Amino acid sequence: NSSLHELDPDVAAAVDAELHRQQSTLEMIASENFAPAAVMEAQGSVLTNKYAEGYPGRRYYGGCEHVDVVEQIAIDRIKALFGAEAANVQPHSGAQANAAAMFALLKPGDTIMGLNLAHGGHLTHGMKINFSGKLYNVVPYHVDDTGVVDMAEVERLAKESKPQLIVAGWSAYPRQLDFAAFRRIADEVGAYLMVDMAHFAGLVAAGLHPNPVPHAHVVTTTTHKTLGGPRGGVILSTQELAKKINSAVFPGQQGGPLEHVIAAKAVSFKVAATEEFKERQQRTLDGARILAERLVQPDVTEAGVSVLSGGTDVHLVLVDLRDSELDGQQAEDRLHEIGITVNRNAVPNDPRPPMVTSGLRIGTPALATRGFGAEEFTEVAEIIAAALKPSYDAGALKARVTALAEKFPLYPGLK
Ligand code: PLP
Repeated sequence: NSSLHELDPDVAAAVDAELHRQQSTLEMIASENFAPAAVMEAQGSVLTNKYAEGYPGRRYYGGCEHVDVVEQIAIDRIKALFGAEAANVQPHSGAQANAAAMFALLKPGDTIMGLNLAHGGHLTHGMKINFSGKLYNVVPYHVDDTGVVDMAEVERLAKESKPQLIVAGWSAYPRQLDFAAFRRIADEVGAYLMVDMAHFAGLVAAGLHPNPVPHAHVVTTTTHKTLGGPRGGVILSTQELAKKINSAVFPGQQGGPLEHVIAAKAVSFKVAATEEFKERQQRTLDGARILAERLVQPDVTEAGVSVLSGGTDVHLVLVDLRDSELDGQQAEDRLHEIGITVNRNAVPNDPRPPMVTSGLRIGTPALATRGFGAEEFTEVAEIIAAALKPSYDAGALKARVTALAEKFPLYPGLK
């Protein structure tokens, strides 16, 4: 019954240091968020001890009466949140949700279409050395010169290659997709439409982004990005596909579900149905727009910095550094030095190598969760704009970052 500090001071020290890092810096990685304490409590509960292969009411292990309750609550809540006919809450991650969904709908050698990785797609949408690129014949689509998904190309490629599955979704894209157009194209060529809403699920739950569920055969998501829950994945589908999806997750791809994580997912779905959550997602969107507007002002563009697609409709901004002296790595390092965490990101037709890149992906969900509103996001935008210019005062900017972090204490109950 020893505490973590007593039993394992080495791991405890690293956890403490990570808490301090999260509390004292500004987290702007677009795929990250801060889970509520209640979510972490559920995730750290005794449910971690339980094997529960199968589904509620149909398990391969005894003693599942309580985890059955938890898993059914999670299923019912997420179905209601997104208006889905069926839900599988067992995927351990977003990548595993995608693997299981594809496993359910495809056979090896089938053709899939997905947004090219360098144009904002995810690894699981057909990257060469990912399972998706190894098992399936991948026909990638792209963004056009304005940075928007080229639907004419999607239609042309679909008609030429007759895919079995079209994936609509992204990891680094600042605009909304036209789900109805994707579905029309999928129907024309007899393909399934799978939407991966991992990034924007929280915006959808809040009613601030179009809902893909009415348009897609299958919708996958992570639960830890804008949705703000524990790390994990979910698959939503029509009732017709539910059985195929369930057997693709278990026993197709996974063994025992992580019921402690499923409990934490359930808690986060409850949170996502509240007015407070909606208000937070609005601040997330406002913050991204404020940042995008600041990073297209002349004092910044003179330094070769601009924003892909000219702005944003979602929770992130893609900074384009192709004309800047600063590459993606240097820009990421500069922001890290002043206490702002972001990730470098390849831009379409990036002239620099993938480990360096010519872009930054900057997101607002974590800071909105922390409480930031328009006033604080305006200050963050000023700090980032200053840091991306040729000469900048790191000490002064870091002090401004620290002041913002102190204004909104994170996890005040944790030490
Ligand atoms: N799908 C999209 C669109 C993503 O952006 C990500 C993660 O970044 C994933 C899936 C994979 O999620 P995970 O990291 O939980 O496997």
